[in-house]
Amino acid sequence: MKILVLNSGSSSIKYKLFDILPDKESLLDKGLVERIGEKIPGHKEALAIILDKIVSGVDAVGHRVVHGGNRFKESVLIDGEVIKAIENFSELAPLHNPPALLTINESMAMLSGIPHVAVFDTAFFQTIPEYAYMYAIPYDLYERYKIRRYGFHGTSHRYIAHQAALVLKKPIDKIKVITCHLGNGCSIAAVEKGKAIDTSMGFTPLEGLVMGTRSGDIDPAVIPYIMEKKNIDANSVIGLLNKESGLLGLSGISNDMREIIKEKGRNKRAALAFDLFAYRLKKYIGAYAGVMGGVDAVIFTGGIGENQPDLMKDICKGVVSAKTKIFSIPTDEELMIARDTKIIVNKD
Ligand code: ADP
Repeated sequence: MKILVLNSGSSSIKYKLFDILPDKESLLDKGLVERIGEKIPGHKEALAIILDKIVSGVDAVGHRVVHGGNRFKESVLIDGEVIKAIENFSELAPLHNPPALLTINESMAMLSGIPHVAVFDTAFFQTIPEYAYMYAIPYDLYERYKIRRYGFHGTSHRYIAHQAALVLKKPIDKIKVITCHLGNGCSIAAVEKGKAIDTSMGFTPLEGLVMGTRSGDIDPAVIPYIMEKKNIDANSVIGLLNKESGLLGLSGISNDMREIIKEKGRNKRAALAFDLFAYRLKKYIGAYAGVMGGVDAVIFTGGIGENQPDLMKDICKGVVSAKTKIFSIPTDEELMIARDTKIIVNKD
């Protein structure tokens, strides 16, 4: 079955074309159309470029959708009602759900007559228990405004957990793993028997680990304090915490871990950024190993996770048992989306 996977941002669409057979998965083509809104007028035109390049017929399309709120616990076949629900959750992911919807609507018109499937970043975390996804704030804020922890990067964590089971040569429902997605954005998940039981990102991707430009965990009282001191509004502070913080904000040099590692021997703030990143990660790994009562493996992925094996072993030292396996696996969210698409299409 030939499956086209589309991953849409506000100014770009990434695609991969797979042939998913029962005994073989092959990547037939991949690419990126950028500068939508500048060189390319809109998502419709970007999509036309992609479809022009794909010569072979497509049997189904899988769409990455960031926010499925508390409704989508797994991937679904897209119909009018699903589109409405994704629209509803746009409020919770204003930068991500609207471009995905544009691409869904356009591609359903251009590739009508074949099934389209939505795969949500948040879905994998819908198994997290209430005591882990709730914030300890007045309950009606959850009931009225859906304020809770959702988690992101779910498709990546799910893929990594499944690949880890293959590496460990054990059924996924017999293992406990910690998956660490460390790229520009960073998140960590505790996965028991194939189900997520906790993750570090929250209501938005800002919570949790230190990232390239995001602060991760912070006392919320800092926000009005910065507003007052700098005479800026709440949105500007959130912008500062998302885009000017993390490795970049601490070091004043770069959001790129390669630069931080290069400079940390001679620059105090680069060393601080590195240490804080590693310390926060260590704390989360320790916490998740603790709540699961031991862990079979800690797996790393993303640009940082895949390229710094010694650092990752160092971070795990002393917080997990000597029997815990530590290794990295390259993530492939698009392959996971293609696999889900095939399962949904076959089911329906
Ligand atoms: P994204 O989250 O956008 O998919 P990646 O997973 O590709 O990004 O990760 C990008 C980040 O990985 C870069 O910002 C850089 O900090 C880091 N990175 C890439 N290669 C290395 C390396 N050899 N050592 C340390 N960090 C690296």
